[in-house]
Amino acid sequence: MSEQTTAAETAAAPAPKPRRPKPKSMLLLGEQTQALFDNARLAKERGEKVGWSASIFPQEIAETLGLNVLYPENHAAGIAARHQADPFLQECEGPLGYSNDLCAYAKLNLAYAAVLNGESGVELPDGGRMVKPDFLLLTNNICNQLTKWYENLARQMDIPIFFIDTCYNPYDYVTESRVRYVRAQIDQLIRDLCAFTGKAWDEERFQRVMRISQRNSYLWERANDLLDRKPSPLSGFELFNYMSAMVCNRGKESSTAVLEQLNAEIEQHIAEGTSTFPVEEQFRVSWDGIACWPYLSHNLRTLKKYGINMVASSYGKAWAIEYEDLDGMARAYCFASTNGDNATTMISRRLEALRKFGCEGTIYHVNRSCKVMDCQMMEVQRQLAALTGVPFTSFDGDQADYRNYSEAQFETRIQGLVEVMEQNKEAKRND
Ligand code: SF4
Repeated sequence: MSEQTTAAETAAAPAPKPRRPKPKSMLLLGEQTQALFDNARLAKERGEKVGWSASIFPQEIAETLGLNVLYPENHAAGIAARHQADPFLQECEGPLGYSNDLCAYAKLNLAYAAVLNGESGVELPDGGRMVKPDFLLLTNNICNQLTKWYENLARQMDIPIFFIDTCYNPYDYVTESRVRYVRAQIDQLIRDLCAFTGKAWDEERFQRVMRISQRNSYLWERANDLLDRKPSPLSGFELFNYMSAMVCNRGKESSTAVLEQLNAEIEQHIAEGTSTFPVEEQFRVSWDGIACWPYLSHNLRTLKKYGINMVASSYGKAWAIEYEDLDGMARAYCFASTNGDNATTMISRRLEALRKFGCEGTIYHVNRSCKVMDCQMMEVQRQLAALTGVPFTSFDGDQADYRNYSEAQFETRIQGLVEVMEQNKEAKRND
């Protein structure tokens, strides 16, 4: 090919679409994330104790005590999304001897911890921003794999776990005896954490942190709810990017700033009739299960091809936890996630979302890591489709292990869903 032809072709080629500048809310979020890791490092350098925490642990307790806490699930998600997971997965399943069947967040984090502990030479792509913990905060309201994962961390690094047992909840409400059981553990946890860290409990500060946390839950829910407009003002996948504000910083005013800004940006789109979804919205769907972080862009590209916008997700809302005192905290954290929701609760929440957001289909992420979630998902799919007539498809994936996904499978499943959604649309038009 001659240089001339190349130049002519270049001239004729459409100019690349300019990248949308990052909205201010994302910039604030970036600063918040940086501050989280910087503050933990500085605390460590000052000789203060730093913790690692399960993502749906009552974070407001650590916040009240002024403790610096980092979140392995969130950190592992970031590594997976940046396609940096492979050396950690290999290390965990190889030299460290863990099973391939474990949750991939656990595998990533156990290998990362081995490096911090001087037992592995895997290069840390972020230079070790997850500083080595002195204690662990754990609940089993999400799943029991977390329990085993943290027990291994505790043994590996010889550090204590502060654990709140919420048990699997078979009811669609929280019994009073369960509230008392968890409340007693919260009281003990506060005493134990104060003794271990040398910090003192300040009731007034707790009330303030709780108010901030409530405000953040409200703002987060509101941002999610604004996607009920047609067409949606936001590409639903973008909300996944903001989850760290809720997962890692629920009790902080910096999250209030991020979420107020996000709400304002969404409202502006509504007022101006614009949307961040890059093509015309043809179909509205809900997403069930954790985001498939290593393939988020492939998911989005495939959906965009058909004008499918994901406007509702059961995943992100799990962090909107509301309560007004320590009893309320016990109740709310018992009812917060997979181990706390029985199938009836899962179905009624999803039914409400399908109706509210006008979803024409559902995509279920059958996540190899999340066995408990998948198990319930099969029954939820069956009952929800029977109740609503809304079609669904599922695909095999993993929230952090890139090896458990097939681009071809995802594409054909979405193609199938589109055919059914199109037929439904056509039938409605002919009604
Ligand atoms: S198995 Fe699923 S719910 Fe449990 S820790 Fe892993 S990703 Fe979270």
